[in-house]
Amino acid sequence: MESQFEIASDLLFRYTSDGVLILDADDVLVRMNPAAAAMLHCAPEDCLGKHASSLFKDQPALLALLTESGQTTRRIPLPDKRIAIGIGHDEVNGEETGPDAAAGGGRLVLLQDITEREELESRREQLIYRISHDLSNPISAIEGFAELIGMYGTLNTDQQKFVTRIRQTSHKLRDLVQTLVDLTWVEAGMPMSSVPVSLDRLISEVVAELSPQAQARQISIAVSTQQPMPIVMGDPMRLKQAIYNLVHNALLYSLPEHPIAIHAYEDRGQIRCTVADRGIGIPEHELGQIFDRLYRVPDERVRNLPGGGIGLTMAQAILKRHGGTIRAESVYGQGSTFILTLPLA
Ligand code: ADP
Repeated sequence: MESQFEIASDLLFRYTSDGVLILDADDVLVRMNPAAAAMLHCAPEDCLGKHASSLFKDQPALLALLTESGQTTRRIPLPDKRIAIGIGHDEVNGEETGPDAAAGGGRLVLLQDITEREELESRREQLIYRISHDLSNPISAIEGFAELIGMYGTLNTDQQKFVTRIRQTSHKLRDLVQTLVDLTWVEAGMPMSSVPVSLDRLISEVVAELSPQAQARQISIAVSTQQPMPIVMGDPMRLKQAIYNLVHNALLYSLPEHPIAIHAYEDRGQIRCTVADRGIGIPEHELGQIFDRLYRVPDERVRNLPGGGIGLTMAQAILKRHGGTIRAESVYGQGSTFILTLPLA
């Protein structure tokens, strides 16, 4: 009787969207799943039992991957201008791969079609290029003319003030455009790395980077993290960006000398990280909207502070991509706490 493991591997073999090819010790193709047959445009009945070199002589990268030894990875061009990442692995045995596989010394090759992922990445680059090109020229022109005004006559105090405002606003505009493009692509599913990450290291880096701003306003940042910190899988640069945005906000919307506290610990199979401040707080009816793109609480104090209303949207998009969550609790006038959760590795 088939074990549950055998049933599961047979199901995976048949229905996975990744192509799987198994060769015996003489480089003869002994198994291929439907995904591999579709990717390579070859019917299993025409291919099984044939030598790799006769089947794939016109596909040198694939042939090399199938016939070389050791664990190897190659970029494999497929028919119809598609692209796959191929991973080859040695020493297939009967137990691991089913009764048809070779008794030892064979090879297992996995093909992962990355055409759409690569197209997305190249479209992102084109879009970034187009937007930054189309917008950066007018922004540079505004910046340039703001510099020129002062050279064509003496400005009075008010005029100087206005020119400074023009310069600051155009810098902000440039930052905003870049952040918006970045957010668009995070939300669109741009590829992110997935490596073991220790949140306490990211928190320390963020606190170190923001400490000059904290010191300038005499705000202390207390950090307490569980030791050792359980690992999460994710993109360290993006997770750091999310934490940075929360701590940056805590500083920005805090009053001088009002402390900030950051905690990170394991809670029921996930990591929970909280960033708490005793700043201006957020009215309860606004809590549902602060994660919206470009939204800022309509408050005189917020309006007078720099910001574009994207930091929380970006943090939320990053957490979502990692299978995590983010939410806010606040008492208006007393402070806010942002709570993010991430699944454990
Ligand atoms: P930004 O801070 O650039 O305006 P965010 O998306 O980071 O954009 O935040 C959106 C809005 O949420 C802010 O404009 C502010 O009104 C509110 N907010 C965020 N963090 C805090 C905080 N720690 N305390 C008070 N208000 C906050």
